[in-house]
Amino acid sequence: MSTNPSILKNYIGGRWVAAHASQTLEVRNPATTEVLAHVPLGLASDVDDAVRAAREAFPAWRATPTLERAHYFFRLKNLLEEHFEDLARTLTTENGKTLPEARGSVRRGIECIEVATGIPSLMMGRVLEDVARGIDCEAIRQPIGVFACITPFNFPFMVPLWFLPFAVACGNTFVVKPSEQVPLSQQELFALIDEAGFPPGVVNLVNGAKEAAQRILEHPDIKGVSFVGSSPVARHVYAECGKHGKRVQALGGAKNYIVIMPDAKLDASVENIVESVFGCAGERCLAGAVLVPVGEIYRAFRDKFVARAAALKMGNGLEPGVELGPVISERHRERVLHYIEKGIKEGAELILDGRNPPVREKGYFVGPTIFDKVKPNMAVAQEEIFGPVACILPVPNLDEALNLIHQHELANATSIFTTSGEAARKFRHEAEPSMMGINIGVGAPMSFFCFGGAKGSFFGDLKAHGWESIDFFTDRKVVISRWF
Ligand code: NAD
Repeated sequence: MSTNPSILKNYIGGRWVAAHASQTLEVRNPATTEVLAHVPLGLASDVDDAVRAAREAFPAWRATPTLERAHYFFRLKNLLEEHFEDLARTLTTENGKTLPEARGSVRRGIECIEVATGIPSLMMGRVLEDVARGIDCEAIRQPIGVFACITPFNFPFMVPLWFLPFAVACGNTFVVKPSEQVPLSQQELFALIDEAGFPPGVVNLVNGAKEAAQRILEHPDIKGVSFVGSSPVARHVYAECGKHGKRVQALGGAKNYIVIMPDAKLDASVENIVESVFGCAGERCLAGAVLVPVGEIYRAFRDKFVARAAALKMGNGLEPGVELGPVISERHRERVLHYIEKGIKEGAELILDGRNPPVREKGYFVGPTIFDKVKPNMAVAQEEIFGPVACILPVPNLDEALNLIHQHELANATSIFTTSGEAARKFRHEAEPSMMGINIGVGAPMSFFCFGGAKGSFFGDLKAHGWESIDFFTDRKVVISRWF
């Protein structure tokens, strides 16, 4: 892979080009603080160039036979398999997650491509003869034009692939604006897109932050935007896209509750919940954040949970055996530490303190942190911390647990741990978050299902990947015909 200059380039119209932007941001390895590259803070004109290339490529790409479009993705998948380990290492280096976590998310990204290669079946329409005498009706799916995605720092390789393969396999052309904090794995992905031989302009990469993102929201030639990030920005993206007449799917933040019923299998549940809360350093929109033991399991759960969390091995995610890597940046570390101080001030009991973790590296580490005796109205229970911090909030029964979940404005994901079918059924039926695990701490829908939350965690109608994404990326044209 040839593209790792110190100032990163954009990939536009099938070529690596320097950004117009003169301002850059340092990209640092969060485990070591080493500067890895400089990313240009793209201007509106950088986005304009990418959209022009995508618009010009659209007519020929939409006319490319569906199966032929899929073939490009078969080639890309094979290249990604060849470079799998390099990609995972880049991901660990730029984001801090451990190598096994990075491998998992590269795998999930590749799966999106695999599913999108089924596009000839996914895109099929419907036909009904004789809707009236001698009149037939067909609904066909057609690509729409240029789409774009704006993505967050926590899954830099995978999240753009929630959208790109589906949009492009449907016959649209595409622009990716990755998070400015973690642009490196996208550079590698696009080097492989180039090698796979996609026609120039079909897929484009523009680096940048707010200014580039805002231009995407306003650009008249972009027909739809897929966004993943924090809720305040998701809300803004949704409103801007509405104002500018675009399709939009905007996935926002999370504060996920995990309910532990008195009949849960304790050891297996604790292992899974520790992984949910502290995996990817808690920087996961499906991470458990508030743990809600129901009834008499509270003390036994708390003690085992604290013991397992305290034993997590921290360090540079590239080292074998490391279970908890750093958070993304010094700024984010300060933010997480601020929440820990706030929890103490609010009167929650700090039973595992991660403020000064014993780590050799000088990166942005926060140790596993657990608050007990948390009250629902405390900031640590209400606000998204997005770090390795858990709150324990015991309740007497399942109804109380559901009340807690429902008072929250966010509703991304939730889980229940139980051996009772009755409790699980009630939970599945009543809990509002639209991604749910039953005895699974991170209920992540695979790419042939749809991904996205409810309430303040999702703005839009059609969710990411799965069948809804085919609806998002196509127009359903209805043709009624009669032959005299
Ligand atoms: P963020 O909202 O700060 O940034 C996300 C993207 O938006 C970045 O590309 C950024 O450059 C861009 N951006 C920032 N400000 C903008 C603005 N004013 N206008 C337009 N674009 C703007 O999010 P982050 O810190 O990178 O990621 C963490 C957040 O993402 C968390 O809240 C997490 O829950 C959420 N997330 C949600 C999901 C989900 O599926 N719901 C998945 C992953 C992450």
